[in-house]
Amino acid sequence: MTQVPFLDLRRHHAPIRDELVAAFEAVLETSAFAGGPFVQQFEKDFAAYCGTRHCVAVGSGTDALWLALLALGVGPGDEVITVPMTFMATAEAITYAGARPVFVDIDRDSYTMDPRLLKQAITPRTRAIIPVHLYGQMADMEPILAIARAHGIPVVEDACQAHGATCQGRRAGAWGDLGCFSFYPGKNLGALGEGGAVVTNDENLARSVAMLRDHGQARKYYHDRVGWNARMDGLQGAALQIKLKRLEAGNEARRRHAALYRALLADAGGVFLPVERPGSRHVYHLFVVRVPDRDAVLRELDERGVHCGIHYPIPVHLQEAYRDLGLRAGMFPVSEQCAAEVLSLPMYPELTEDQVEYVAQELRSCLSHRSATRFAAAGSEATAQLVPCA
Ligand SMILES: *Cc1c(COP(=O)(O)O)cnc(C)c1O
Repeated sequence: MTQVPFLDLRRHHAPIRDELVAAFEAVLETSAFAGGPFVQQFEKDFAAYCGTRHCVAVGSGTDALWLALLALGVGPGDEVITVPMTFMATAEAITYAGARPVFVDIDRDSYTMDPRLLKQAITPRTRAIIPVHLYGQMADMEPILAIARAHGIPVVEDACQAHGATCQGRRAGAWGDLGCFSFYPGKNLGALGEGGAVVTNDENLARSVAMLRDHGQARKYYHDRVGWNARMDGLQGAALQIKLKRLEAGNEARRRHAALYRALLADAGGVFLPVERPGSRHVYHLFVVRVPDRDAVLRELDERGVHCGIHYPIPVHLQEAYRDLGLRAGMFPVSEQCAAEVLSLPMYPELTEDQVEYVAQELRSCLSHRSATRFAAAGSEATAQLVPCA
């Protein structure tokens, strides 16, 4: 049986193994292990890539989001708006800044913040808005920024899944006041460990994040404010410089696989395919479809050697950790429906056409042998609304 792993990092790193080892030796020679010149060079490269003036490398995407909020002065008593359909870290950063997460539901087609619902969530306490560029496609930034600017509220992009995504040719991270990235190994640009970055065009914000990641000091042992240790490792800076050069080719390969999935699944009944917003370049960190009876489909595909993921099965507002917020099922219906139906198919640059074809064939077969009655039995409104996209 063909096996298609969900992710294949070994194959991803094999062609650059020698280059990576040489870079590690260079770090070892100079002992530049915490911050230092390898990290500084990566910061220059990544700022240039994003089209921003500044990049501050940090320890993770979670650090990036947290320190971005602290740099904006977010603190206790404040509210920060984001979406419930995201990785937990987006909300955790808000909580660790001392503020309260306020959720706005997502759009059914793009899985990103629904700008039509944003205005009603703004209160006098709103101090920042965090749209999340989920799965590799940017949120609808123009209306979000227009509303934010009209209210004088800064925007922090959670671009942790969207390295190289664009809208009207401008890259993710370069739209808001600050853009936050993760270099977790499985991301489109992944370190060989943990890493993250904040990009911005604002020099003062860049300086604040740079101080906060290094115990609030701009000069050694002179601490202007209480910060943290959120520096990037030298080894990660060196590896990321090498991997950044291959990001565009990787994103293009992902887009090719997505086009092939789309062609092979276009006329399959009962599967909702990703929708690309006009003017936006999706970089397919994940290729997420919606299917009825999702958990059964996931199990069945797994038995056929097709290993899928779920991003994410429980929206943040329904997580046990946020019970204190007093939010209930039914409050963010689109996020809740998507959480029940989303299925992430294998997606990475190294997939072969044969693998994509095998995944599509097995998914089609899983869906077609589920009888029409079974569809009806699953029976939710959600299921009835599932339509293949043209
Ligand atoms: C990965 C991710 C993060 C957190 O990044 P880490 O580097 O794992 O801390 C935050 N937000 C989203 C949307 C992510 O996908």
